Amino acid sequence: MAGPGEVVVRMRASGMCGSDLHFYRGTASFGGGPDMIQGHEPCGEVHAVGEGVTPDLASVGDRVMIHHYWACTTCDHCRSGWPQMCDGGQVHTLCIDEPGGHAPYMVVPVRTLLPLPDELSFKAGAAIGCGTGTAWGGLKRLGDLAGGNLVVLGQGPVGLSGTMLAAALGARVIGVDINAERLDRAREFGASEVVNSAEVDISEAIADLTGGRGADMVLETSGRANADALKILGKWGRACFIGLPGDVSFRTEDIFRNQWTLMTSWTLSSIEQRRCAEFVASRKLPVDSLFTKSWSLDQAVEAYEWFDKQTDGKGVFEF
Ligand SMILES: [Zn+2]
Ligand SMILES: [Zn+2]
Repeated sequence: MAGPGEVVVRMRASGMCGSDLHFYRGTASFGGGPDMIQGHEPCGEVHAVGEGVTPDLASVGDRVMIHHYWACTTCDHCRSGWPQMCDGGQVHTLCIDEPGGHAPYMVVPVRTLLPLPDELSFKAGAAIGCGTGTAWGGLKRLGDLAGGNLVVLGQGPVGLSGTMLAAALGARVIGVDINAERLDRAREFGASEVVNSAEVDISEAIADLTGGRGADMVLETSGRANADALKILGKWGRACFIGLPGDVSFRTEDIFRNQWTLMTSWTLSSIEQRRCAEFVASRKLPVDSLFTKSWSLDQAVEAYEWFDKQTDGKGVFEF
């Protein structure tokens, strides 16, 4: 039942994201609990609208993505599409404070909805809701990519998304992983070169590929290669760390001498989520190919047992 300002969304796809495993394994340091319905990559169709939801906001049958946070709506951060950073202290996050998308229907405020372009599948919309969207957010923070060398550390679903998006945005992408199959996938998703950091010295390999300059930019997605990021970053380099949580250690003098810019990135704003979907649609990027498994909801136990053990794929519940 949709209350005032709310909609009921009929789920069509609900993605499995790496951060789900913090909850699955009971290691989450940020709320949630064993009774909370998971799924923060929901995508579906508007099934019913509550009082005050006018047709310009949403209508039954609309294909929609969901930005998976909501908050006060009036502070500067909420107004600019960043409810996860709300000053009001009342952030609602799917699967932490509010039931998520691993269910046939969900109720959300209408303001969380974003249009799913007709060209995109529901599962593409799901991926853009967190995994692929997080890569997009990190790339946006890195700034102008065109013509630069970007090293993407880790080629899991987020890293592969970063490779795919950055190549389409004009960067020369060097994909790094310790797994040969993942590196094959990185090539398919647009990496110009790949480096297996289990087999070669990463500093030497990146130096060779960049004429000794080092990387212009690094996107760290694995959470395990933070030290490598700083080993390969060239002068004036920019590095964004999105494989959380983790520690990054540096000497200020090294940053000083190299004039580095180091940052991290918190998923993405609602505005950028919409832009990411439009970009993926206009470039016909193969987001659907990120998913290696599709499950029905009654296979959830099996699905998470698989997800917990594997390192290569991404799963989705389809309805
Ligand atoms: Zn706010
Ligand atoms: Zn996620």
